[in-house]
Amino acid sequence: MTRGTVGRTGYRDISLYSPDRAPCRVDLSDNTNGWGMPPAAADAFSTAASAASTRYPSLYAAALKDALASYVGVSADMVTTGCGSDDVLDSSIRAFAEPGDRIAYPDPTFPMIPIFARMNGLVPVPVPLMSSYDVDVDGMRAANARVIYLCSPNNPTGAALSRRSIEAIVGAARGDQFVIIDEAYAEFAGVTVIDLIQRCDRLLVTRTMSKAFGLAGLRVGYAIGAPSLVAEVEKSRGPYKVNAMAERAAIAALGDGLAWVREHIELTIANRRRLIVELAMRRIRPIESDANFVFFPIARALGLARAMRERGVAVRPFEGLPLVSEGLSASNGAALRISIGPWEQLAEALDAFDEVRAQCE
Ligand code: PMP
Repeated sequence: MTRGTVGRTGYRDISLYSPDRAPCRVDLSDNTNGWGMPPAAADAFSTAASAASTRYPSLYAAALKDALASYVGVSADMVTTGCGSDDVLDSSIRAFAEPGDRIAYPDPTFPMIPIFARMNGLVPVPVPLMSSYDVDVDGMRAANARVIYLCSPNNPTGAALSRRSIEAIVGAARGDQFVIIDEAYAEFAGVTVIDLIQRCDRLLVTRTMSKAFGLAGLRVGYAIGAPSLVAEVEKSRGPYKVNAMAERAAIAALGDGLAWVREHIELTIANRRRLIVELAMRRIRPIESDANFVFFPIARALGLARAMRERGVAVRPFEGLPLVSEGLSASNGAALRISIGPWEQLAEALDAFDEVRAQCE
């Protein structure tokens, strides 16, 4: 028997997503909610666990769509859901483009985008961010892509893209182009571009319940777009993607849990401000953050993060980022990203950071 290649040829260069997820006493590496989840969601989850596990969940999470529609202020036929916004992004890329088409995205951005692109046979086209960390509007247009992905606030930089740039890109989208705007961190920015959907029926805004809502382990993501667009994403997504417990917990989080969520968004913003002040006292200037994390260029980020992990604090290191700004040029493309959580955790992170820096100097 001859040994053939296993799987699709286009998958040969795709490696499994592998950030360091080893458990750590203080984990500030993945921008989830350091305070946990709304108690109302935890109660709904426990109740649903015995009542809802045996039968299939609803096909397209209709009750959750209703709750999300009233949270966002749109009609339910403008909402689709998925197994995390990962699933929603993957399904939309598949729905909007044919294999061989191009997808343009700012660089750096959410690292799963080029992976979803390849999984669906698309050609990834990274377009470096501007030195202000805003999107390069001309570069995006010149990429001549079928799908344009933007992330605002952007991960990993934390800065929201300017409304002007987003409007320019959405306004210039041709008849066969689609724009996806990932608003995973919008709750921490207090701004959204969902209103632009009224002007463009090829714009999809994706959101998640993994960050402000504290439900990352339950995997609930959603998107808002024109009903005709949402219907295509649902075809590509398929049925039963939000499990029954997750749907019940998410609905509770959007109902009785909403006050808890809002209170913790405020706490996050206050601690973000406080961490930036503390970092400034150490002569570190993070990029202005509109998200639940701060990001700053720093040389030898991998080594620093590894040493912090040995002291029980996980933060996210980056190396090899494009040298789009003075800061990233000075650090040779290395940076750290620290998620915002309860202040005791951030204080531990600062202590560990001080220790490992002192050792490196
Ligand atoms: N978009 C962005 C920008 C993210 O940072 C993340 C998670 N880190 C996601 C989407 C995916 O989130 P989830 O699948 O948990 O909804």
